[in-house]
Amino acid sequence: MIIETVDPGVEGVGEAVKEYVEKYPDFAQPLRMYGSIMEAQQAALADVTCQLQLPAEEKEKRLMNGEPLLDPRDLEIEPVAFTDLLTKICRAVDEGTPGGFSHCDDLISWDGLKPGGIAETRDRVLSGESLPEVDGWENEGDKKIVSNIIWETLTPFYRKCGSILFDKMEQSPWQKGFCPVCGSAPLIGMFRSEDGLWLLECSLCHTLWNVQRARCPFCEGSSGSLEYIYIEGDPGRRVQYCESCKAYVKTVDLRESQREVLLPLEDIVTVELDVAASREGLKATRLP
Ligand SMILES: [Zn+2]
Ligand SMILES: [Zn+2]
Repeated sequence: MIIETVDPGVEGVGEAVKEYVEKYPDFAQPLRMYGSIMEAQQAALADVTCQLQLPAEEKEKRLMNGEPLLDPRDLEIEPVAFTDLLTKICRAVDEGTPGGFSHCDDLISWDGLKPGGIAETRDRVLSGESLPEVDGWENEGDKKIVSNIIWETLTPFYRKCGSILFDKMEQSPWQKGFCPVCGSAPLIGMFRSEDGLWLLECSLCHTLWNVQRARCPFCEGSSGSLEYIYIEGDPGRRVQYCESCKAYVKTVDLRESQREVLLPLEDIVTVELDVAASREGLKATRLP
């Protein structure tokens, strides 16, 4: 089966954010802020390139063996494009957060994000390690924001590789709970409108891939069966979780709906589901 990931483009993001803000006014602030970040990412996609190449047979072999197409640490991040996008995303966070985020200048001039330091900082952020102590953002809250800003700045570089390496690939042998392109955990999923196929969207490269609904994609050996919970009155959005390993992924059911969704925006307006999941002792999906 071939699953196509369509990039929304700058205009597509702008229109979607407007619709979501009308529908979910309580989430206007995070929707607008994340919308600005997505617009900057979509614009950056035109400028970044993917240096990695893989022959078709090698790609097929990896998917058959359950290995993602690329190791995120192998990707070279172009420093000029990186700094340019980092600046835009940091400003979007500063302007879009109540109280602002005052450390953008420190961040842009930090050695850890200079050409010689990007790779090491990237590896720390992707593996969830804490960033080193840097003047200006000593507290954990600031460090978390900085990590998130760096993560969002990295996404177009991986999206670009995903769009090239995974284009028109037969992915049926995959069926795993982590991304076939970069190995990252899913952000959120959907049951596709036309046929109910369960698709997950990668939290890093935003590639869509398909998993089976009958069994847990996160259990080794896949013995766990899936259950779900939803908030009363909103059965179309649910927490899909595994009885056995307790991993969960939020999923939007579009089977009876014609509406267009942008999954990263759905992630924002469904925080209540994360709260419900954590109350049940479930944990967000795990890395392999
Ligand atoms: Zn990915
Ligand atoms: Zn499981």
